[in-house]
Amino acid sequence: MTFEVFIDFLQAQQLWKVVVEILLLATVFYWILRFLQESLGASVLRGLAVFIVVMFVVLLFFAQQFEMRVITALLTSFPEFFAIGLIIMFQPELRRALVRLGESRLLRRVFRDKGDVINTIVGAVTSMAEKQIGALICLEREVSLNTYVDGGIKLDSKITSELMITLFYPGTPLHDGAVILRDDRLIAAGCLFPLTENPVVSRGLGTRHRAGIGVTEQSDALAIMVSEETGQISFAVRGTITRGLSPDELERTLRQIYVERKDPQSAVA
Ligand code: ATP
Ligand code: MG
Repeated sequence: MTFEVFIDFLQAQQLWKVVVEILLLATVFYWILRFLQESLGASVLRGLAVFIVVMFVVLLFFAQQFEMRVITALLTSFPEFFAIGLIIMFQPELRRALVRLGESRLLRRVFRDKGDVINTIVGAVTSMAEKQIGALICLEREVSLNTYVDGGIKLDSKITSELMITLFYPGTPLHDGAVILRDDRLIAAGCLFPLTENPVVSRGLGTRHRAGIGVTEQSDALAIMVSEETGQISFAVRGTITRGLSPDELERTLRQIYVERKDPQSAVA
């Protein structure tokens, strides 16, 4: 009885439409799930946005052409919920995108006497590279690194190269982790950063270098790494690392960013 009613209903609704509608929905959900599973990389947001817009337009077109009521209703009544869901899911990516927006020239802090600080940093880094003392120095910019400062040991000191070399000296209580510089002050040592999960950049890198990249993914900060194993100097910004810089190249990069006000990414390129 009920089955007949159901069949009647299907016939009234034109069976083929229902079948096609179910198939379409199943395919779309399958692709969305697969996409979410595979694309946990950096470009996920852009990819997803394009994907969703294209799917939305294509589906809506077909649904309206063939009068598929369920899909049409879903597409026209759920965008708000869908948008909120996306914002929650992609909060870290959105945060990074917003961080980049905040890096515009207007919002950039004016750097006073940065030349001295750059000399000091480059001097310390050069000396640590020669002695193969491992180091991770993070330069805060617009986005506050207070979360990481709170997790480390707070200091508030003038930046001197002796202090930095001493802080990273192997075996001393504060040598593990990173130091954070804010303007012309060394504000914390022994800070831990999130390690990058980017499988492309992190291949073959140890935790110091992955932490240096990690902090530049979460903020607009710059990170300078000295390898304990090789004495190599590396520089990271916006989740990309440049390895094997000479002290001169490091100095030029920092000057371009702070004195000439170049975009950090083009400064290292
Ligand atoms: P190196 O080339 O100097 O050996 P690496 O990239 O191979 O560096 P590791 O050998 O794993 O990295 O370096 C370990 C050191 O990295 C630790 O002693 C610590 O000082 C630092 N480090 C590890 N994890 C973090 C973190 N999450 N945040 C900041 N520093 C970290
Ligand atoms: Mg190592």
